[in-house]
Amino acid sequence: MAGLYFHIPFCKTICAYCDFFRTGDLRAMDGTLRAMAAELERERDFISDHEIRTIYFGGGTPSLAEPAALQRLIDCAGSVFDCGGVEEITVEANPDDVTADYVAALRRTDVNRVSLGVQSFDDAELRFMGRRHTAADAVGAVKRLQDAGFGNITVDIIFGVEGFGAEVLGRTLEKTVLLGVQHVSAYHLTLEPSSVFGRRLAQGRMHEVDEAVSEAEYAMVERELSAAGFEHYEVSNYAREGFRARHNSSYWHGAQYLGIGPGAHSFNGNVRRWSVQRPADYMVLPRYESERLDEREHFNEYVMTRLRCAEGIDTEYMRRRFGAERFERVMRDAGQWIASGELRYANGRLSIPTECMLVSDAVIESFFEA
Ligand code: SF4
Repeated sequence: MAGLYFHIPFCKTICAYCDFFRTGDLRAMDGTLRAMAAELERERDFISDHEIRTIYFGGGTPSLAEPAALQRLIDCAGSVFDCGGVEEITVEANPDDVTADYVAALRRTDVNRVSLGVQSFDDAELRFMGRRHTAADAVGAVKRLQDAGFGNITVDIIFGVEGFGAEVLGRTLEKTVLLGVQHVSAYHLTLEPSSVFGRRLAQGRMHEVDEAVSEAEYAMVERELSAAGFEHYEVSNYAREGFRARHNSSYWHGAQYLGIGPGAHSFNGNVRRWSVQRPADYMVLPRYESERLDEREHFNEYVMTRLRCAEGIDTEYMRRRFGAERFERVMRDAGQWIASGELRYANGRLSIPTECMLVSDAVIESFFEA
């Protein structure tokens, strides 16, 4: 079964760490949404699997679009694909967009999961990151969604922020747990070159946190969320039982997905493709760039995505899918990492212990085929 991803590339303000494909020019919203419906119909056959299991509205800030407009895209998907088995429809939302009116309108759509960009419960840290909401906005947003009956809410938090250490992170984790949400994504801050933070880094006005701080904060996130009953199932993702992110999990399992909207990525099992324009040009006609994955790239991607998940590599599947020669090489190379405790082998699976995942690049890359 496949996934549909709608990219809503509009933001009211630009966060200091952001290098995503987005624009502050909201005037193009309506035209872009109409062009997305047209793109959905035109590009349906990019994926051969037309049974849709998950739909995801990401951004940008999808909560800047009227919920009714998102529902029109969901309805359009229903007329283009087989959506009878859709299990999860997620919309990303900025906490200060989640007013009582917004929640009421969202409740009238088929959306059944909300992803809130909380990032922190410290107002000074939120201001530092250029977020436009406050900690109180985030608490209010979750409460309004819960009161309206949304029972599948995920929040994003960020750690590894220079100047905001363990104490601030501890309070953010404590408040996150108290919210009673079903899922948490916790990301280490990265200072992307094209972001405001990246430019400050280049000017020497900002620094990456020390590796020891990164590791200590990652361990703190894992300890606190695990103690609260969340399962750490992917390097950045924690879920209560039955609430793993189905859309994102399908990416990690190599499922096909069709991305719609400016900057959206698609994958049909062999070809990865992405549209490359700003909304004004996209509305006229999307233009794409693409790459075809060869067997070596398929293998490397399989190793990378599986080792970032707690379940790891199913070695028998790997042998059948990628051949005995690759299987034997991986099993041979695994020995040194198993001996050092950075890899486990149990029940036919090779996996990285979750507490080691943040610094597992060397392990993962050692299995790549050059
Ligand atoms: S982080 Fe999200 S909300 Fe902030 S500018 Fe980037 S896309 Fe927009």
